[in-house]
Amino acid sequence: MLIGGKLVQGESSFSVINPSSGSAFAKAPACSKAQLEDSVRAAKEAQPKWAALAKQEFSAIMKSAAQKLSQKVDAIAELLVKEQGKPLAAAKEEALIVCGLFMLQSKAESEYERVLADTPKERVIERRVPLGVVAVIAPWNYPLILAFGRVAECLGTRNTVVLKPSPYTPLSALLVAEIISDVFPPGVLNVVCGGDDVGEWLVEHEDVAKVCFTGSVKSGKAVQAASSSTLKRTTLELGGNDAAVVLEDADPQKAAEGVFAKAMRNSGQVCIAVKRAYVHASQYEAFVNHLTMMAKGAHVGDGFEKGVHFGPINNKMQLERVKELVEDAKAQGAKVHAGGEPLKRDGFFYPPTILTGISEGVRIVDEEQFGPVLPVMPFTDIKDAVQRVNDTTFGLGNSVWSTNPEKAAEVAAQLRSGTVWINSHGDLTPDIPFGGWGQSGVGRVQGSSTVESNTNAQVIRIPKVQSKL
Ligand code: NAD
Repeated sequence: MLIGGKLVQGESSFSVINPSSGSAFAKAPACSKAQLEDSVRAAKEAQPKWAALAKQEFSAIMKSAAQKLSQKVDAIAELLVKEQGKPLAAAKEEALIVCGLFMLQSKAESEYERVLADTPKERVIERRVPLGVVAVIAPWNYPLILAFGRVAECLGTRNTVVLKPSPYTPLSALLVAEIISDVFPPGVLNVVCGGDDVGEWLVEHEDVAKVCFTGSVKSGKAVQAASSSTLKRTTLELGGNDAAVVLEDADPQKAAEGVFAKAMRNSGQVCIAVKRAYVHASQYEAFVNHLTMMAKGAHVGDGFEKGVHFGPINNKMQLERVKELVEDAKAQGAKVHAGGEPLKRDGFFYPPTILTGISEGVRIVDEEQFGPVLPVMPFTDIKDAVQRVNDTTFGLGNSVWSTNPEKAAEVAAQLRSGTVWINSHGDLTPDIPFGGWGQSGVGRVQGSSTVESNTNAQVIRIPKVQSKL
């Protein structure tokens, strides 16, 4: 782990499993309570100097982190395949994105100040001041982007950080920490490992000013509740049940290709994957046929296999959940067009699965499957489709598919979610804010939201006339 600028062993360890074999292949350090205290203390001590660092020096440090990482992309990607399961090409892309995130933040302003009022009597300015120590808690589906995206934003706003990756995928984050350990002043970036309990200690800690949490709705609620003990700031990026709405004028083949890619990417383990599809009845049969063809033609295997499209599900618990939801759907009369049961081999493999013949009220339609399974439902009246899409406690993303983007944008505006894509789904760029409505999250990350989310506002009112007092 990286604590106070030093690479340290855990006081105990836990096994990390390769989801392609189902067997443990490495041990990760587990952070003790004393080590957690050390990491928060180191972050707290380092923060004032980090905040005061001149822009040029700060920028050089962030660039150096990006450059060091870019020289080790292959090693990072290989470790990511072993612990997460994704295809090597996708793992490389993820490692490269992390380099880009540090590079982007190297351009962050060192001071944020704006004039709110300027009258003959006074000038009123608003400054943004770093919060202090931020805990970043990450999940296992995109272990690097979701961890270091938040880390880079928090460092860019001159907070110091304690990162805790998921216990399913701790190793790639540890490797990144090791590569850049000597780039930052000691204590600016700390990386500790362990189970949910280590996350809980961070959330409860008095000296942690904010928690940037990405994970399930259930854990997000626990984080929000525990944060209230010290009224910590939180950004919660939680689950979703995103819908794709395919309009009457869509090209069924192109729409099916797009929806398939965005539903099955990362074996469906994406917060903003398409998790249910509503297709106009006139396009429904052709759409389902194209989806089925693609699902049957997909190459599922170990992320290191040549030409592999989809890797395994990351962990046994998640595989069991996907199995359970599909079995429930079958029992409720679902027709399975492709897939429908795990592959008969070692590891946690589940093939792309297309289901029809079910609707709202069946768990796989109402809940987040977080796996490579897509239920497809027809509609005839767009008002009815909009209402069905919106009838959920989630509100992360949705998409509309049409040959007429302007018409699609009118439908998009009726959908209740933080983002709506047209003829795509789940594309994110770090300059555009992202976040969920309802139980999909609290607050937003990226772009113009970065400063607002990770700083306190301070108003200073400066009189122009000398006061007599
Ligand atoms: P999870 O909630 O089980 O765990 C996420 C992280 O939180 C882990 O590091 C875990 O150890 C820690 N944790 C768990 N309980 C905690 C607690 N009470 N206090 C502090 N830390 C705690 O989630 P997961 O299974 O790793 O990830 C999958 C979920 O994440 C899915 O629901 C998915 O939709 C969601 N997700 C959301 C986004 C987004 O940006 N909205 C992105 C990716 C994943």
